[in-house]
Amino acid sequence: MSKPDDSADNPAASASELDALKRFRPAGRGPWADVSEAEWNDWRWQLKHRVSSLARLEALLPGLTPSERAGAKLANHKLAMGITPHFFNLIDPEDPECPIRRQVIPRAEETRVAPWELNDPCGEDAHSPVPGLVHRYPDRVLFLVTDRCAAYCRYCTRSRLVSNAAGYDFHPRFDEQIDYIARTSSVRDVLLSGGDPLLLGDDKLEHLLRRLRAIPHVEFLRIGSRVPVFLPQRVTPELCAMLRRFHPLFLSIHSNHPRELTTEVRAALGRLADAGIPLGNQSVLLRGVNDTPEVMKAHAQKLLMCRVRPYYLYQCDLIAGSAHLRASVREGLRLMQALRGHTSGYAVPTYVIDAPGGGGKVPVSPEYVLSRNADRVVIRNYEGKIFEYPEAPDGTPQFAPPARIEEPEWA
Ligand code: SF4
Repeated sequence: MSKPDDSADNPAASASELDALKRFRPAGRGPWADVSEAEWNDWRWQLKHRVSSLARLEALLPGLTPSERAGAKLANHKLAMGITPHFFNLIDPEDPECPIRRQVIPRAEETRVAPWELNDPCGEDAHSPVPGLVHRYPDRVLFLVTDRCAAYCRYCTRSRLVSNAAGYDFHPRFDEQIDYIARTSSVRDVLLSGGDPLLLGDDKLEHLLRRLRAIPHVEFLRIGSRVPVFLPQRVTPELCAMLRRFHPLFLSIHSNHPRELTTEVRAALGRLADAGIPLGNQSVLLRGVNDTPEVMKAHAQKLLMCRVRPYYLYQCDLIAGSAHLRASVREGLRLMQALRGHTSGYAVPTYVIDAPGGGGKVPVSPEYVLSRNADRVVIRNYEGKIFEYPEAPDGTPQFAPPARIEEPEWA
């Protein structure tokens, strides 16, 4: 049997690597040292000064690789390039394989498309009763509110749509979307996504949330957002005060690597948590980003320190041109095995594959049940030790209760 955790080879080195990965650091000002404090902390300033052209990228990062240069040239025909100054400062300029850089700087490999790759890998368009609404599961809908994001992830499942570089021309139709939800009484859970809902202004977002809250059968609202990570300046006290009026409201952030969890991001997440918003994280398993046990564990533990529960780890969807970023399912299972039992259960996300073509999320897990015999289940624990759990053949408890129950003498 393979070892459950490679760190067993050198526990001391692994512990110091874990400590270094878990350290909180500010993103810093980097090339924007001259900008005023007020501008730097203004989320609209951050958006306006995103790194979105090859010329700007080259000026800020002189050591671009030929693949990155070619990728940045082509990006605006497929999925725009856009990197907030805050997030840009997390890039290691000396390391072409920097895990932050791999996520947001396009590469020439994006133009290579395998036959099994798709533009809409989760089959969302086929499950869309009205434009901008995906109804794939019985009791919940995905409500797309915008095609804009604070920065653009090179592996984005919705890259056909977000940034509009590929000409999808998405325009939400809020009235139609809300009307569908109002007349579909099975919908009890609405997930606002996009694009990034937190890029809407406070007033517009409040208006949407209020309309959804007014629908009696909508029990639960969720927002999916990478803004707290790409643009923590957006998480203002005013935004948090507005969101807290719509409880129960949950928020799923999207972070993939411990370095993304800066002191600024931790403070932004603290503001959301203080507003009573339960926080979860959705990560995507990415080659060269978070595909080692040390990074995965440090990230999960650091999320908990930010009051965020690791929720899902996604196998990277078969999005066109993403092969260079995909790690294998075998690797994903190995990583899950390195987490389960080796750290708090709260730090262990559910590893899922979004079934290609629209089958929904399918959980995948390392095998802990080794066999089921007539009278027992044979299991193994995180250390590889084998145990037996006795069970009657039909699954009922081993012993039926006695026909007559005597009072114990000492009762
Ligand atoms: S933030 Fe989300 S929707 Fe936007 S590019 Fe990244 S993965 Fe796609």
